[in-house]
Amino acid sequence: MRSTPPDPGDQAVRLGPAGRQAAGPPARAGLAQSSRILIVEDEPALLRALQINLRARGYDVATARAGRKALTEAVRRPPDAILLDLGLPDLDGTEVIREFRSWSAAPVIVLSGRASSSDKIGALDAGADDYVTKPFNMEELLARLRAALRRDEGAGPIAAVILGRWTIDRAARTVTRRDDQAGPAPAGRAAPAGPAAPAQTPHLTPTEWRLLEVLLQHPGQLVSASRLVAKLWGPQPERSTHYLRFHMASLRRKLEDDPARPRHLLTEPGMGYRYQR
Ligand code: CA
Repeated sequence: MRSTPPDPGDQAVRLGPAGRQAAGPPARAGLAQSSRILIVEDEPALLRALQINLRARGYDVATARAGRKALTEAVRRPPDAILLDLGLPDLDGTEVIREFRSWSAAPVIVLSGRASSSDKIGALDAGADDYVTKPFNMEELLARLRAALRRDEGAGPIAAVILGRWTIDRAARTVTRRDDQAGPAPAGRAAPAGPAAPAQTPHLTPTEWRLLEVLLQHPGQLVSASRLVAKLWGPQPERSTHYLRFHMASLRRKLEDDPARPRHLLTEPGMGYRYQR
């Protein structure tokens, strides 16, 4: 039984401010909530302008004027994305990115007056997702932010993904059999000893969807356990990794032909997990 941490993934999708819900088409599952954006900028006028523009578009905005404050705030309320000035009074912005990246996979867009390519490369190498040079056009920044959030939510153009004999529709959040001919169970699958389950379409919990989405966003790549934990529950002590193992095991039971010998949802011992087509 779960005590702490609370699991936001198991709640119904968080509702954003009423205005955001009313505007635009029905959002996809992952985007229905109001995204939380952390703005890190020591220039008061720019910070204020960003804050006003993002709030006007329904984002849940937090701000910080220095690097350490930003990291504390990010831990306290994990953001869905960070807009980060590189030139901060205490830490260098790339340090902030590195530290944030040690536990979060949320997109980071760098805002910087430094235009040299080595600064950009440094920030991108540290884990930034995008880079805007000051002075920037507010609409362009907002478009980049939307793109980063879409990529992060996995609601990109490729919504359907193949996983073994299942087609995973990430937008509709459905799992369907690839061959709808209801053929025999694939070879290698042991006859179920207990109550039969196999031919049914699996039902995934919100947490399992979230976990699966993060893995599907990085086909073939290792996703560290700490990043997955951060994605699912925010920064949490190590004990969260056992929740992660629990949910991974459950996903495998539902999606793998042989959960004991997974072919698509792989464990990299001591490091993390990998989705393999
Ligand atoms: Ca600055």
